[in-house]
Amino acid sequence: MATALIIGAGGVGRVVAHKCVMNNHIFDRIILASRSIWRCEEIKSELPEGALEITTVDADNTEEVIALINKYNPNILINVALPYQDLSIMDACIATKTPYLDTANYEHPDEAKFEYKLQWERDGAFKEAGIMGLLGSGFDPGATNMFCAYAQKHYFDEIHTIDILDCNAGDHGYPFATNFNPEINLREVSAKGRYWENGEWIETAPMEIMQVWDYPEVGPKDSYLLYHEEMESLVKHIKGLKRIRFFMTFGQSYLTHMKCLENVGMLGIEPVEHQGQKIVPIEFLKTLLPDPASLGPRTKGKTNIGIVAEGLKDGKKRKIYIYQVKDHEECYAEVKSQGVSYTTGVPAVIGAKLMVQGIWNGKGVFNMEQLNPDPFMEEMNTQGLPWKIIEMEC
Ligand code: NDP
Repeated sequence: MATALIIGAGGVGRVVAHKCVMNNHIFDRIILASRSIWRCEEIKSELPEGALEITTVDADNTEEVIALINKYNPNILINVALPYQDLSIMDACIATKTPYLDTANYEHPDEAKFEYKLQWERDGAFKEAGIMGLLGSGFDPGATNMFCAYAQKHYFDEIHTIDILDCNAGDHGYPFATNFNPEINLREVSAKGRYWENGEWIETAPMEIMQVWDYPEVGPKDSYLLYHEEMESLVKHIKGLKRIRFFMTFGQSYLTHMKCLENVGMLGIEPVEHQGQKIVPIEFLKTLLPDPASLGPRTKGKTNIGIVAEGLKDGKKRKIYIYQVKDHEECYAEVKSQGVSYTTGVPAVIGAKLMVQGIWNGKGVFNMEQLNPDPFMEEMNTQGLPWKIIEMEC
């Protein structure tokens, strides 16, 4: 039995809280801490009496997180606040010797750039503290890393190419909204594209490369090449890899709105002077856009996220597609949340479960694909994210 301390009561935090409660044979005490208590109260009201304890924390402040950890003495800290808080929370975990898990890599609020460097640099401190830190246990990163590790372990001697294919075919009825934190989402999507080939990163203009991919149970969709964080660790850990790319689907309405907002400067991250006050355009835009958590009851359709891997097995060419399809309305019925938060929150709980059970153990900072994928893949099938594998023609 374990105590789980969750930080961040947004869309993903709601799913993590609900799923931890559903796994209360593992997590017998669950605490949700976030900046705004009303969000925690809302989530608590959706769960059985006594199932969830709530409190506030400013996770930018390491001392506050240390005090919070000392109060509850958790067996694991599940960080589903924003990427800006990763380092302050990791440092609190090192100071208190508390195992750590997150779903997104560190990003500085003043620079639209995400990378593992500063989190990997804490590997030695995690080792010294004798604890495990698991990075990127969401869907992508997260389940996609596991799909790659599973392919490597069971299907290939060498993987030469990987395409990660992320489709959200959900419709929330708004002309423009983002399915997770708008600031993080828009910073990611408006950035330059990047993929890795023959040992080097190749940069593209934003949305320069597009392919149409036929997603099972969804249909053909325009899919755009983006840079995505799991590629940074996968190039280190997948044997024989020659190329890895990441594609995500976007509808025309989303792209037109985003281009227009970008052209007028609304995606800016530098403060601007407005009537004697400093405002950051993208933060103001976040205030105007629908709260991702409010999309749950409105979203219809499916997500399909997977990987296509090509390589060699026993000297012969092989190509496989591993994917997971989730229905937004089913997610809402189960945990009052749309599919994007669901597909992120469930892998976070699976990772946490494997860590507290000692099935995944180790000292230091780990990316998902460094761990045995089999127990994770089994849990996906029983925790609401069943997946499929197709052999494809090479
Ligand atoms: P939300 O914006 O909905 O929620 C973030 C929550 O964190 C909010 O409740 C917010 O508080 C809280 N928070 C922000 N700053 C602080 C702080 N300083 N101290 C305490 N709490 C804070 O985001 P999501 O739930 O959509 O996303 C959560 C995380 O999941 C993000 O890191 C995101 O990048 C990641 N993600 C990962 C994916 C994956 O597949 N790996 C996919 C989607 C998301 P308040 O309510 O006061 O604003």
